[in-house]
Amino acid sequence: MILSSQSPIPWFDDFLGIGYRFYDLRMNVVPLFTERKQAIDLWRETVNWWFDHSIKIRFVESSDSYWFIMGADSEHPQSNISFFKKLDKSANYERFKKGHDGEAYLRLGSYSDQYLKDVKKSSPCNCGHAAEDHDKNDNDACLYEICSCKKFESFEVKLLKKKKTVTDIAFLDEKNIKDDPLAWNCLNVNKFSKLK
Ligand SMILES: [Zn+2]
Ligand SMILES: [Zn+2]
Repeated sequence: MILSSQSPIPWFDDFLGIGYRFYDLRMNVVPLFTERKQAIDLWRETVNWWFDHSIKIRFVESSDSYWFIMGADSEHPQSNISFFKKLDKSANYERFKKGHDGEAYLRLGSYSDQYLKDVKKSSPCNCGHAAEDHDKNDNDACLYEICSCKKFESFEVKLLKKKKTVTDIAFLDEKNIKDDPLAWNCLNVNKFSKLK
């Protein structure tokens, strides 16, 4: 038996979640970070060196949530990492699942909360009404009487321009991952070993 001298690729979950974008040649899968710099650094150190055809994305479903799992072979194996995150299923997730057609662009992005002082008058609040319909003199509450919004809140997602094309995407059930080395390894390391 030949023992590999390579240590296993570390698992990384220090990001906020996954954004999905639909208005592009291929749907976008976007790991999101609080700081733009984190996304830029991670791209430069890791994702940039991935071979596109080797990138695997796995969505492992478990009732109302799913595990996002992503890994690839790298030109720089010493700085390689694999991503994972347990997330709640969302409408965007379901839309991606239905529509991706076996391919996606992988990009990294930053996500920031925005408040009334940060935005233009026309920017929409999470309640659906515009920034200008919120009252600065009343804790930024929505002016529409029928609306229960007590404070203007919105968010902004900025994507890095660089992208990779992913063609190995699979949706799996948690009970059914033993034949998938990446998903199996992820849940072994990050879930099952922690239940003991
Ligand atoms: Zn509002
Ligand atoms: Zn409102």
